[in-house]
Amino acid sequence: MSQEILVLCPFGLDAGLLSKAAELLPGRVRAFVPAREQAEAALYGANIIHTLNCGEIVDEAALADLLAEKLKLWGSSIVLAPATIRMRNLMPMLAWKLDAGLTADCTALEMAGSDLVQTRPAFGNSLMASIRSLSRIQMATVRPGLFRPAARPNPKAEIIPESCHIREQRLRHVAFQPFSQGKPLSQAGIIVAGGMGVGSKEGFRKLSVLAEKLGAGLAASRSAVDAGFAPYRCQVGMTGVTVCPRLYIAVGISGAVQHLAGMSGSEKIVAINSDPKAPIFGYADYGIVGDWETVIDQLLKEELS
Ligand SMILES: Cc1cc2nc3c(=O)[nH]c(=O)nc-3n(C[C@H](O)[C@H](O)[C@H](O)COP(=O)(O)OP(=O)(O)OC[C@H]3O[C@@H](n4cnc5c(N)ncnc54)[C@H](O)[C@@H]3O)c2cc1C
Repeated sequence: MSQEILVLCPFGLDAGLLSKAAELLPGRVRAFVPAREQAEAALYGANIIHTLNCGEIVDEAALADLLAEKLKLWGSSIVLAPATIRMRNLMPMLAWKLDAGLTADCTALEMAGSDLVQTRPAFGNSLMASIRSLSRIQMATVRPGLFRPAARPNPKAEIIPESCHIREQRLRHVAFQPFSQGKPLSQAGIIVAGGMGVGSKEGFRKLSVLAEKLGAGLAASRSAVDAGFAPYRCQVGMTGVTVCPRLYIAVGISGAVQHLAGMSGSEKIVAINSDPKAPIFGYADYGIVGDWETVIDQLLKEELS
């Protein structure tokens, strides 16, 4: 077994997770990605890149069988994956096959000697737990989009095309129903987020017009979701999605710690709030004190590109 991180992204690369792995163990990162993403995997710090050439695999159980066999050859000591729906399905099956400890939905990772310290909210999010696995292989899933991608070009990365012979697929692809239109929030470069201050569903409709003009994703605080102003898939924060866009525009959001947990990695934060003492201003790069609707109306009048 070698001290090495394997980043498993068979259904699509999480560049932020890969660059985090390269930061944790520089020069000792293996990635498993779709063939079309091999160049991106080399850009974000993988040293050895296994590419998948077998089209769409629908059965995570069959893929877990295959990966368990491969891992015996590769001998990676740490296995990381984004906590997407499919990887949440696959990773426990793989952990069982490898007799490995698995920590789900981590919000931070660091190395302590050869141990991976995995941090995640616990006990109804009332505390943050730091977890070390006692097993030979340490496995974790991480909220998608948690880490900002940092380029670590590796032109000498070794590319190994994998032929995958799935013996038996126990699942069959029947139909595909898109969950929502457009890109997932975790991939949006710009996000317009509304809170209780926006006051209504109609208010959110106005925010969505701005979001559309900016080519942005629409997000919400938990209170706004609980009030029915926006659907749950828009929720950003500790119990919602984690995002790190180039620009996050927080409209009528107070800046509670649970909201900040999901968006404080944003490159630039603009806050619009009528209360000059709102905590969000303590984290914003630019603050606009005023009624959200007046400010948004003015923004909508501007020529936005
Ligand atoms: C276990 C747990 C998990 C949680 N998880 C999450 C989570 O994932 N995400 C999340 O967001 N929250 C989460 N919360 C809730 C969080 O604590 C806050 O209650 C929530 O974020 C507040 O949302 P808000 O900022 O929209 O509302 P408020 O705190 O009510 O703030 C509304 C803001 O709007 C401003 N405002 C009012 N009128 C106007 C106006 N006309 N124009 C401009 N501004 C105006 C006010 O000044 C105020 O600052 C969680 C809480 C707990 C206990």
